[in-house]
Amino acid sequence: MKTLAMNNPRSGKEDFNVPVFSQQEVADIAKTLRKNHSYWWQIGIQGRIKVMLRFADELANRKDALVAALVNDTGRLSESVLEVDVTVSTIQRWCKQAPPLLDTGASRLAEIPFIELQQRYLPYTLVGAISPWNFPLLLSLVDIIPALLAGSAVLLKPSEVTSRFVEPLQKVINLVPELQSVFAVVTGAGDVGQAVLNEVDSLCFTGSVPTGRKVGEACAKRFIPAFLELGGKDAAIVCANADLDIAAKALCWGSMVNAGQSCMSLERTYVHKDVAQAFLTKLVDCVKQLKHNYPDLKAGQVGPIISASQVGIVKAQLSDAKAKGAKVLCGGEVVELGGGQYCQPTVLTNVSPDMKIMNEETFAAILVVNVVDSDEEAIKRANDSEFGLSAAVFSKDVDYAMGIAEKLEVGGISINDASLTGLIHEAEKQSFKYSGLGGSRMGAESIRRFIRKKAIIRNTGVPSPWWF
Ligand code: NDP
Repeated sequence: MKTLAMNNPRSGKEDFNVPVFSQQEVADIAKTLRKNHSYWWQIGIQGRIKVMLRFADELANRKDALVAALVNDTGRLSESVLEVDVTVSTIQRWCKQAPPLLDTGASRLAEIPFIELQQRYLPYTLVGAISPWNFPLLLSLVDIIPALLAGSAVLLKPSEVTSRFVEPLQKVINLVPELQSVFAVVTGAGDVGQAVLNEVDSLCFTGSVPTGRKVGEACAKRFIPAFLELGGKDAAIVCANADLDIAAKALCWGSMVNAGQSCMSLERTYVHKDVAQAFLTKLVDCVKQLKHNYPDLKAGQVGPIISASQVGIVKAQLSDAKAKGAKVLCGGEVVELGGGQYCQPTVLTNVSPDMKIMNEETFAAILVVNVVDSDEEAIKRANDSEFGLSAAVFSKDVDYAMGIAEKLEVGGISINDASLTGLIHEAEKQSFKYSGLGGSRMGAESIRRFIRKKAIIRNTGVPSPWWF
Protein backbone atom coordinates (compact mmCIF):
# COMPACT_ATOMS: atom_id res chain seq x y z
CA MET A 1 0.00 0.00 0.00
CA LYS A 2 1.19 3.52 -0.77
CA THR A 3 1.98 5.67 2.26
CA LEU A 4 1.91 9.39 3.04
CA ALA A 5 4.53 11.04 5.30
CA MET A 6 3.34 13.20 8.20
CA ASN A 7 5.27 16.35 9.07
CA ASN A 8 5.89 16.90 12.78
CA PRO A 9 5.16 20.60 13.38
CA ARG A 10 7.58 20.78 16.34
CA SER A 11 10.58 19.42 14.45
CA GLY A 12 9.69 20.19 10.85
CA LYS A 13 10.59 16.58 10.07
CA GLU A 14 8.54 13.85 8.44
CA ASP A 15 8.59 11.12 11.05
CA PHE A 16 5.45 9.03 10.50
CA ASN A 17 3.62 7.40 7.60
CA VAL A 18 -0.03 6.69 7.10
CA PRO A 19 -1.58 4.45 4.44
CA VAL A 20 -3.03 6.00 1.30
CA PHE A 21 -6.29 4.26 0.47
CA SER A 22 -7.05 3.71 -3.20
CA GLN A 23 -10.41 4.60 -4.74
CA GLN A 24 -11.19 0.88 -5.02
CA GLU A 25 -10.41 0.31 -1.35
CA VAL A 26 -12.63 3.23 -0.34
CA ALA A 27 -15.42 1.82 -2.52
CA ASP A 28 -15.00 -1.67 -0.98
CA ILE A 29 -15.06 -0.26 2.57
CA ALA A 30 -18.17 1.76 1.76
CA LYS A 31 -19.85 -1.39 0.44
CA THR A 32 -19.12 -3.25 3.69
CA LEU A 33 -20.39 -0.34 5.78
CA ARG A 34 -23.62 -0.30 3.79
CA LYS A 35 -24.01 -4.04 4.32
CA ASN A 36 -23.52 -3.66 8.08
CA HIS A 37 -25.80 -0.65 8.34
CA SER A 38 -29.03 -2.63 8.72
CA TYR A 39 -27.71 -4.30 11.90
CA TRP A 40 -26.83 -0.88 13.35
CA TRP A 41 -30.25 0.53 12.52
CA GLN A 42 -32.10 -2.50 13.82
CA ILE A 43 -30.48 -2.52 17.28
CA GLY A 44 -32.39 0.72 17.90
CA ILE A 45 -31.34 3.81 19.73
CA GLN A 46 -30.88 2.03 23.08
CA GLY A 47 -28.61 -0.57 21.45
CA ARG A 48 -26.56 2.15 19.77
CA ILE A 49 -26.27 4.09 23.03
CA LYS A 50 -24.80 1.04 24.78
CA VAL A 51 -22.18 0.68 22.05
CA MET A 52 -21.36 4.40 22.01
CA LEU A 53 -20.93 4.53 25.79
CA ARG A 54 -18.43 1.68 25.52
CA PHE A 55 -16.67 3.66 22.81
CA ALA A 56 -16.49 6.67 25.18
CA ASP A 57 -15.06 4.47 27.96
CA GLU A 58 -12.41 2.97 25.68
CA LEU A 59 -11.44 6.44 24.40
CA ALA A 60 -11.01 7.60 28.00
CA ASN A 61 -8.99 4.45 28.83
CA ARG A 62 -6.62 5.14 25.95
CA LYS A 63 -6.39 8.86 26.46
CA ASP A 64 -2.58 8.84 26.82
CA ALA A 65 -2.01 7.20 23.44
CA LEU A 66 -4.50 9.52 21.73
CA VAL A 67 -2.97 12.62 23.33
CA ALA A 68 0.55 11.49 22.37
CA ALA A 69 -0.46 11.09 18.73
CA LEU A 70 -2.33 14.41 18.72
CA VAL A 71 0.73 16.15 20.19
CA ASN A 72 2.84 14.83 17.31
CA ASP A 73 0.14 15.86 14.84
CA THR A 74 -0.34 19.39 16.19
CA GLY A 75 2.61 20.31 18.42
CA ARG A 76 0.46 21.40 21.38
CA LEU A 77 -0.48 19.61 24.58
CA SER A 78 -3.34 21.21 26.51
CA GLU A 79 -5.61 21.43 23.45
CA SER A 80 -4.81 17.77 22.68
CA VAL A 81 -5.93 16.75 26.18
CA LEU A 82 -9.03 18.90 25.71
CA GLU A 83 -9.81 17.22 22.37
CA VAL A 84 -9.96 13.79 23.99
CA ASP A 85 -11.90 14.98 27.05
CA VAL A 86 -14.44 16.90 24.98
CA THR A 87 -14.88 13.99 22.55
CA VAL A 88 -15.68 11.65 25.47
CA SER A 89 -18.11 14.12 27.06
CA THR A 90 -19.72 14.80 23.66
CA ILE A 91 -20.51 11.09 23.23
CA GLN A 92 -21.95 10.94 26.74
CA ARG A 93 -24.03 14.09 26.17
CA TRP A 94 -25.43 12.86 22.85
CA CYS A 95 -26.32 9.50 24.42
CA LYS A 96 -28.56 11.38 26.87
CA GLN A 97 -29.97 13.83 24.33
CA ALA A 98 -30.59 11.61 21.31
CA PRO A 99 -33.58 9.42 22.30
CA PRO A 100 -36.30 12.09 22.46
CA LEU A 101 -34.89 13.83 19.39
CA LEU A 102 -35.20 10.64 17.35
CA ASP A 103 -38.60 9.70 18.70
CA THR A 104 -41.31 10.29 16.12
CA GLY A 105 -44.14 9.89 18.61
CA ALA A 106 -47.31 7.86 18.20
CA SER A 107 -49.51 7.96 15.15
CA ARG A 108 -52.00 10.83 15.25
CA LEU A 109 -54.99 12.15 13.39
CA ALA A 110 -54.39 14.90 10.86
CA GLU A 111 -56.41 18.13 10.73
CA ILE A 112 -58.70 16.19 8.41
CA PRO A 113 -59.89 13.80 11.10
CA PHE A 114 -60.34 10.61 9.04
CA ILE A 115 -56.65 10.76 8.01
CA GLU A 116 -54.02 9.23 10.30
CA LEU A 117 -50.36 10.26 10.20
CA GLN A 118 -47.29 8.31 11.13
CA GLN A 119 -43.80 9.78 10.94
CA ARG A 120 -40.62 7.81 10.41
CA TYR A 121 -37.08 9.11 10.84
CA LEU A 122 -34.77 7.13 8.59
CA PRO A 123 -31.04 7.76 8.83
CA TYR A 124 -28.93 8.30 5.75
CA THR A 125 -27.34 4.89 5.28
CA LEU A 126 -23.76 6.12 4.95
CA VAL A 127 -22.58 9.54 6.16
CA GLY A 128 -19.12 10.83 5.18
CA ALA A 129 -16.96 13.27 7.11
CA ILE A 130 -13.90 15.11 5.79
CA SER A 131 -12.19 16.88 8.67
CA PRO A 132 -9.43 19.50 9.10
CA TRP A 133 -6.07 19.69 10.84
CA ASN A 134 -6.67 22.33 13.50
CA PHE A 135 -8.55 20.02 15.94
CA PRO A 136 -7.93 16.64 14.28
CA LEU A 137 -9.85 14.35 16.66
CA LEU A 138 -12.61 16.66 17.82
CA LEU A 139 -13.57 17.94 14.38
CA SER A 140 -13.43 14.39 12.98
CA LEU A 141 -15.99 13.15 15.49
CA VAL A 142 -18.20 16.20 16.05
CA ASP A 143 -20.59 15.17 13.27
CA ILE A 144 -19.88 11.44 13.33
CA ILE A 145 -21.12 10.96 16.91
CA PRO A 146 -24.68 12.23 16.27
CA ALA A 147 -24.70 10.53 12.83
CA LEU A 148 -23.92 7.16 14.44
CA LEU A 149 -26.56 7.66 17.11
CA ALA A 150 -29.09 8.64 14.45
CA GLY A 151 -28.43 5.22 12.94
CA SER A 152 -26.05 5.93 10.04
CA ALA A 153 -22.86 4.09 9.21
CA VAL A 154 -19.95 6.53 8.86
CA LEU A 155 -16.84 6.91 6.73
CA LEU A 156 -14.21 9.38 7.96
CA LYS A 157 -11.39 10.96 5.97
CA PRO A 158 -9.24 13.06 8.33
CA SER A 159 -6.86 15.77 7.19
CA GLU A 160 -3.79 14.51 5.37
CA VAL A 161 -1.79 16.97 7.51
CA THR A 162 -2.67 15.38 10.86
CA SER A 163 -3.49 11.68 10.50
CA ARG A 164 -1.31 10.15 13.23
CA PHE A 165 -4.20 10.07 15.68
CA VAL A 166 -6.00 7.59 13.39
CA GLU A 167 -3.83 4.69 14.61
CA PRO A 168 -4.83 4.95 18.30
CA LEU A 169 -8.39 5.87 17.29
CA GLN A 170 -8.61 2.76 15.12
CA LYS A 171 -7.36 0.64 18.04
CA VAL A 172 -10.17 2.03 20.18
CA ILE A 173 -12.75 1.38 17.45
CA ASN A 174 -11.46 -2.21 17.11
CA LEU A 175 -12.16 -2.77 20.81
CA VAL A 176 -15.86 -2.18 20.15
CA PRO A 177 -16.69 -4.67 17.35
CA GLU A 178 -20.28 -3.46 16.85
CA LEU A 179 -18.92 0.01 16.18
CA GLN A 180 -16.07 -1.28 14.04
CA SER A 181 -18.63 -2.74 11.64
CA VAL A 182 -20.18 0.67 10.90
CA PHE A 183 -17.35 3.19 11.47
CA ALA A 184 -14.37 3.20 9.09
CA VAL A 185 -11.49 5.64 8.69
CA VAL A 186 -9.55 6.10 5.45
CA THR A 187 -6.38 8.17 5.16
CA GLY A 188 -4.40 9.69 2.32
CA ALA A 189 -4.42 12.68 0.01
CA GLY A 190 -5.02 13.62 -3.58
CA ASP A 191 -8.29 11.94 -4.37
CA VAL A 192 -9.29 10.10 -1.19
CA GLY A 193 -11.70 12.91 -0.24
CA GLN A 194 -13.33 12.69 -3.66
CA ALA A 195 -13.52 8.89 -3.34
CA VAL A 196 -15.37 9.29 -0.01
CA LEU A 197 -17.70 11.86 -1.54
CA ASN A 198 -18.50 9.45 -4.39
CA GLU A 199 -19.62 6.72 -1.97
CA VAL A 200 -21.66 8.41 0.75
CA ASP A 201 -25.31 9.53 1.00
CA SER A 202 -24.58 12.74 2.91
CA LEU A 203 -21.32 14.58 3.60
CA CYS A 204 -19.99 16.82 6.39
CA PHE A 205 -16.96 18.84 5.30
CA THR A 206 -14.89 21.17 7.50
CA GLY A 207 -12.13 23.17 5.84
CA SER A 208 -11.48 26.03 3.45
CA VAL A 209 -13.96 27.92 1.27
CA PRO A 210 -12.36 26.97 -2.09
CA THR A 211 -12.39 23.24 -1.28
CA GLY A 212 -15.81 23.59 0.36
CA ARG A 213 -17.16 25.04 -2.87
CA LYS A 214 -15.80 22.10 -4.89
CA VAL A 215 -17.24 19.65 -2.37
CA GLY A 216 -20.62 21.42 -2.39
CA GLU A 217 -20.77 21.38 -6.19
CA ALA A 218 -19.81 17.70 -6.36
CA CYS A 219 -22.45 16.82 -3.74
CA ALA A 220 -25.05 18.82 -5.67
CA LYS A 221 -24.23 16.79 -8.79
CA ARG A 222 -24.86 13.60 -6.79
CA PHE A 223 -28.00 15.09 -5.17
CA ILE A 224 -26.67 14.39 -1.70
CA PRO A 225 -26.73 16.92 1.17
CA ALA A 226 -23.48 18.73 1.96
CA PHE A 227 -22.96 20.28 5.38
CA LEU A 228 -20.11 22.74 4.94
CA GLU A 229 -18.28 24.31 7.89
CA LEU A 230 -15.77 26.66 6.29
CA GLY A 231 -13.57 29.61 7.09
CA GLY A 232 -14.06 32.76 9.07
CA LYS A 233 -12.61 36.21 9.61
CA ASP A 234 -14.37 36.85 12.90
CA ALA A 235 -14.63 40.43 14.11
CA ALA A 236 -14.84 41.85 17.64
CA ILE A 237 -16.35 45.25 18.40
CA VAL A 238 -15.05 47.07 21.47
CA CYS A 239 -17.47 49.91 22.26
CA ALA A 240 -16.55 53.13 24.05
CA ASN A 241 -18.41 51.86 27.12
CA ALA A 242 -16.72 48.45 27.22
CA ASP A 243 -14.98 47.03 30.26
CA LEU A 244 -11.51 47.21 28.73
CA ASP A 245 -9.94 44.67 31.09
CA ILE A 246 -12.53 42.09 30.05
CA ALA A 247 -12.27 42.99 26.37
CA ALA A 248 -8.47 42.77 26.37
CA LYS A 249 -8.34 39.44 28.23
CA ALA A 250 -11.12 37.84 26.20
CA LEU A 251 -9.61 38.93 22.89
CA CYS A 252 -6.11 37.89 23.93
CA TRP A 253 -7.54 34.38 24.47
CA GLY A 254 -10.02 34.38 21.56
CA SER A 255 -7.37 35.31 19.01
CA MET A 256 -4.42 33.27 20.31
CA VAL A 257 -5.85 30.01 21.67
CA ASN A 258 -4.66 27.00 19.64
CA ALA A 259 -2.17 29.49 18.14
CA GLY A 260 -5.10 31.18 16.37
CA GLN A 261 -5.83 28.03 14.36
CA SER A 262 -9.54 27.87 14.86
CA CYS A 263 -12.33 28.82 12.47
CA MET A 264 -13.93 31.07 15.10
CA SER A 265 -10.65 32.71 16.07
CA LEU A 266 -11.11 36.48 16.43
CA GLU A 267 -8.92 37.94 13.71
CA ARG A 268 -10.20 41.55 13.42
CA THR A 269 -11.02 44.03 16.18
CA TYR A 270 -12.84 47.36 15.76
CA VAL A 271 -12.30 49.57 18.79
CA HIS A 272 -13.90 52.97 19.44
CA LYS A 273 -11.36 55.81 19.17
CA ASP A 274 -12.23 57.11 22.67
CA VAL A 275 -10.88 53.95 24.30
CA ALA A 276 -8.50 52.71 21.62
CA GLN A 277 -5.24 53.66 23.33
CA ALA A 278 -6.22 52.29 26.73
CA PHE A 279 -7.55 49.08 25.15
CA LEU A 280 -4.43 48.55 23.03
CA THR A 281 -2.17 48.97 26.06
CA LYS A 282 -4.09 46.30 27.98
CA LEU A 283 -4.33 43.97 24.97
CA VAL A 284 -0.63 44.20 24.16
CA ASP A 285 0.26 43.67 27.86
CA CYS A 286 -1.75 40.45 27.81
CA VAL A 287 -0.46 39.19 24.44
CA LYS A 288 3.17 39.93 25.40
CA GLN A 289 2.84 37.55 28.35
CA LEU A 290 2.10 34.60 26.04
CA LYS A 291 4.98 32.26 25.33
CA HIS A 292 5.63 29.53 22.81
CA ASN A 293 5.49 25.97 24.10
CA TYR A 294 9.13 25.55 23.14
CA PRO A 295 11.42 23.92 24.15
CA ASP A 296 9.13 22.65 26.93
CA LEU A 297 5.88 21.29 25.49
CA LYS A 298 4.20 21.80 28.87
CA ALA A 299 5.17 25.46 29.13
CA GLY A 300 3.68 28.43 27.29
CA GLN A 301 0.36 28.84 25.56
CA VAL A 302 1.17 29.12 21.84
CA GLY A 303 2.17 26.10 19.78
CA PRO A 304 3.62 25.87 16.29
CA ILE A 305 1.83 26.41 12.99
CA ILE A 306 0.39 22.94 12.44
CA SER A 307 0.19 22.80 8.64
CA ALA A 308 3.48 23.32 6.79
CA SER A 309 1.64 24.88 3.84
CA GLN A 310 0.00 27.41 6.18
CA VAL A 311 3.42 28.88 7.08
CA GLY A 312 3.79 30.55 3.68
CA ILE A 313 0.23 31.96 3.87
CA VAL A 314 0.87 33.53 7.30
CA LYS A 315 4.24 34.95 6.25
CA ALA A 316 2.75 36.42 3.06
CA GLN A 317 -0.07 38.10 5.00
CA LEU A 318 2.37 39.58 7.51
CA SER A 319 4.77 40.95 4.90
CA ASP A 320 1.91 42.34 2.79
CA ALA A 321 0.52 44.13 5.88
CA LYS A 322 3.90 45.53 6.87
CA ALA A 323 4.68 46.67 3.31
CA LYS A 324 1.35 48.53 3.23
CA GLY A 325 2.05 50.36 6.50
CA ALA A 326 0.73 48.16 9.32
CA LYS A 327 2.28 48.92 12.71
CA VAL A 328 3.49 45.92 14.74
CA LEU A 329 2.69 46.44 18.43
CA CYS A 330 4.11 43.06 19.44
CA GLY A 331 5.33 39.93 17.68
CA GLY A 332 5.15 40.27 13.92
CA GLU A 333 7.28 37.36 12.74
CA VAL A 334 7.10 33.65 12.07
CA VAL A 335 10.16 32.20 13.79
CA GLU A 336 11.84 28.82 13.57
CA LEU A 337 12.41 27.02 16.86
CA GLY A 338 13.95 23.56 16.79
CA GLY A 339 12.78 23.08 13.20
CA GLY A 340 9.14 24.05 13.95
CA GLN A 341 7.56 27.25 12.64
CA TYR A 342 5.94 29.44 15.31
CA CYS A 343 3.96 32.63 14.76
CA GLN A 344 4.87 35.15 17.45
CA PRO A 345 1.76 36.33 19.30
CA THR A 346 1.11 39.44 17.23
CA VAL A 347 -0.98 42.62 17.46
CA LEU A 348 -1.13 44.90 14.41
CA THR A 349 -2.66 48.37 14.01
CA ASN A 350 -2.70 50.94 11.18
CA VAL A 351 -4.22 48.30 8.98
CA SER A 352 -6.21 49.08 5.85
CA PRO A 353 -8.96 47.20 4.00
CA ASP A 354 -6.69 46.47 1.02
CA MET A 355 -4.39 44.27 3.10
CA LYS A 356 -4.65 40.49 2.72
CA ILE A 357 -4.66 40.17 6.50
CA MET A 358 -7.94 42.12 6.61
CA ASN A 359 -9.72 39.87 4.14
CA GLU A 360 -8.24 36.39 3.99
CA GLU A 361 -8.53 33.85 6.78
CA THR A 362 -5.19 34.02 8.65
CA PHE A 363 -5.35 31.02 11.01
CA ALA A 364 -2.43 32.17 13.18
CA ALA A 365 -1.74 33.98 16.48
CA ILE A 366 -2.37 37.41 14.97
CA LEU A 367 -4.99 40.02 15.90
CA VAL A 368 -5.43 43.18 13.84
CA VAL A 369 -6.93 46.20 15.59
CA ASN A 370 -8.77 48.91 13.68
CA VAL A 371 -9.63 52.18 15.41
CA VAL A 372 -13.09 53.48 14.41
CA ASP A 373 -14.93 56.77 14.91
CA SER A 374 -18.24 55.20 15.92
CA ASP A 375 -19.89 51.89 16.73
CA GLU A 376 -21.94 52.26 13.53
CA GLU A 377 -18.68 52.32 11.57
CA ALA A 378 -17.52 49.23 13.51
CA ILE A 379 -20.71 47.33 12.57
CA LYS A 380 -20.40 48.33 8.91
CA ARG A 381 -16.76 47.28 8.70
CA ALA A 382 -17.30 44.06 10.66
CA ASN A 383 -20.03 43.14 8.16
CA ASP A 384 -17.83 44.04 5.19
CA SER A 385 -16.54 40.49 4.78
CA GLU A 386 -17.30 37.50 2.62
CA PHE A 387 -17.32 35.41 5.81
CA GLY A 388 -20.11 35.24 8.39
CA LEU A 389 -19.11 32.70 11.01
CA SER A 390 -19.17 34.48 14.38
CA ALA A 391 -18.28 37.70 16.18
CA ALA A 392 -17.94 39.33 19.61
CA VAL A 393 -19.25 42.56 21.14
CA PHE A 394 -17.91 44.26 24.27
CA SER A 395 -20.03 46.83 26.14
CA LYS A 396 -21.03 47.32 29.78
CA ASP A 397 -24.52 48.21 28.52
CA VAL A 398 -26.05 44.82 27.74
CA ASP A 399 -29.01 46.21 25.77
CA TYR A 400 -26.64 48.26 23.66
CA ALA A 401 -24.44 45.23 22.98
CA MET A 402 -27.54 43.20 22.08
CA GLY A 403 -28.55 45.92 19.60
CA ILE A 404 -25.18 45.60 17.88
CA ALA A 405 -25.40 41.80 17.90
CA GLU A 406 -28.73 42.02 16.03
CA LYS A 407 -27.03 43.96 13.23
CA LEU A 408 -24.08 41.61 12.71
CA GLU A 409 -24.36 39.29 9.70
CA VAL A 410 -22.92 36.18 11.36
CA GLY A 411 -24.26 32.95 12.83
CA GLY A 412 -23.14 33.36 16.45
CA ILE A 413 -22.20 36.29 18.65
CA SER A 414 -20.44 36.30 22.03
CA ILE A 415 -21.17 39.24 24.30
CA ASN A 416 -18.42 40.30 26.72
CA ASP A 417 -16.55 37.08 25.96
CA ALA A 418 -14.91 35.39 22.99
CA SER A 419 -15.71 32.35 20.81
CA LEU A 420 -18.51 31.09 23.09
CA THR A 421 -20.13 29.41 20.10
CA GLY A 422 -17.41 26.77 20.20
CA LEU A 423 -18.01 26.04 23.87
CA ILE A 424 -21.77 26.26 24.35
CA HIS A 425 -23.18 23.17 22.71
CA GLU A 426 -26.86 23.92 23.11
CA ALA A 427 -26.81 27.12 21.01
CA GLU A 428 -27.92 26.45 17.45
CA LYS A 429 -26.18 28.50 14.83
CA GLN A 430 -25.59 28.44 11.11
CA SER A 431 -22.71 29.82 9.11
CA PHE A 432 -23.62 32.91 7.13
CA LYS A 433 -22.24 33.96 3.72
CA TYR A 434 -19.21 31.89 2.54
CA SER A 435 -18.57 30.48 6.02
CA GLY A 436 -20.73 27.48 5.32
CA LEU A 437 -23.88 25.80 4.20
CA GLY A 438 -26.49 23.55 5.76
CA GLY A 439 -28.16 23.04 9.11
CA SER A 440 -26.64 23.91 12.48
CA ARG A 441 -23.83 21.63 13.66
CA MET A 442 -24.43 22.77 17.21
CA GLY A 443 -27.51 22.34 19.34
CA ALA A 444 -29.79 19.38 19.90
CA GLU A 445 -31.56 19.68 16.54
CA SER A 446 -28.27 19.07 14.70
CA ILE A 447 -28.75 15.30 14.99
CA ARG A 448 -31.71 15.63 12.63
CA ARG A 449 -29.30 16.52 9.80
CA PHE A 450 -28.68 12.78 9.57
CA ILE A 451 -32.25 11.61 9.14
CA ARG A 452 -34.72 11.69 6.31
CA LYS A 453 -38.30 12.25 7.33
CA LYS A 454 -40.88 9.90 5.94
CA ALA A 455 -44.62 10.25 6.31
CA ILE A 456 -47.10 7.37 6.17
CA ILE A 457 -50.57 8.83 5.74
CA ARG A 458 -53.57 6.51 6.05
CA ASN A 459 -57.17 7.00 5.12
CA THR A 460 -58.98 5.38 8.08
CA GLY A 461 -61.96 4.33 5.98
CA VAL A 462 -63.91 7.37 4.85
CA PRO A 463 -64.33 7.97 1.09
CA SER A 464 -62.26 11.10 0.44
CA PRO A 465 -64.51 14.04 -0.59
CA TRP A 466 -61.92 15.22 -3.15
CA TRP A 467 -62.08 12.04 -5.25
CA PHE A 468 -63.57 12.34 -8.77
P1 NDP B 1 -8.87 22.08 2.50
O1 NDP B 1 -10.00 22.97 2.67
O2 NDP B 1 -8.10 22.20 1.23
O3 NDP B 1 -9.40 20.56 2.60
C1 NDP B 1 -8.56 19.48 2.45
C2 NDP B 1 -9.40 18.22 2.51
O4 NDP B 1 -10.40 18.23 1.50
C3 NDP B 1 -8.59 16.96 2.31
O5 NDP B 1 -9.06 15.95 3.16
C4 NDP B 1 -8.88 16.61 0.86
O6 NDP B 1 -8.72 15.23 0.63
C5 NDP B 1 -10.32 17.03 0.72
N1 NDP B 1 -10.70 17.37 -0.65
C6 NDP B 1 -10.06 18.19 -1.50
N2 NDP B 1 -10.75 18.27 -2.66
C7 NDP B 1 -11.84 17.49 -2.53
C8 NDP B 1 -12.93 17.16 -3.38
N3 NDP B 1 -13.04 17.66 -4.61
N4 NDP B 1 -13.88 16.34 -2.90
C9 NDP B 1 -13.78 15.82 -1.66
N5 NDP B 1 -12.77 16.09 -0.82
C10 NDP B 1 -11.82 16.91 -1.24
O7 NDP B 1 -8.01 22.16 3.81
P2 NDP B 1 -6.55 22.54 4.15
O8 NDP B 1 -6.19 21.62 5.21
O9 NDP B 1 -5.64 22.61 2.98
O10 NDP B 1 -6.75 24.02 4.73
C11 NDP B 1 -6.68 25.13 3.90
C12 NDP B 1 -7.30 26.33 4.59
O11 NDP B 1 -8.56 26.02 5.18
C13 NDP B 1 -6.48 26.86 5.72
O12 NDP B 1 -5.55 27.75 5.24
C14 NDP B 1 -7.50 27.52 6.63
O13 NDP B 1 -7.64 28.87 6.27
C15 NDP B 1 -8.79 26.80 6.33
N6 NDP B 1 -9.20 25.89 7.38
C16 NDP B 1 -10.39 26.11 7.98
C17 NDP B 1 -10.80 25.29 8.98
C18 NDP B 1 -12.09 25.50 9.68
O14 NDP B 1 -12.34 24.89 10.72
N7 NDP B 1 -12.97 26.34 9.15
C19 NDP B 1 -9.98 24.17 9.45
C20 NDP B 1 -8.75 24.01 8.74
C21 NDP B 1 -8.39 24.84 7.73
P3 NDP B 1 -7.99 14.71 -0.67
O15 NDP B 1 -6.67 15.40 -0.76
O16 NDP B 1 -7.84 13.23 -0.49
O17 NDP B 1 -8.91 15.02 -1.78
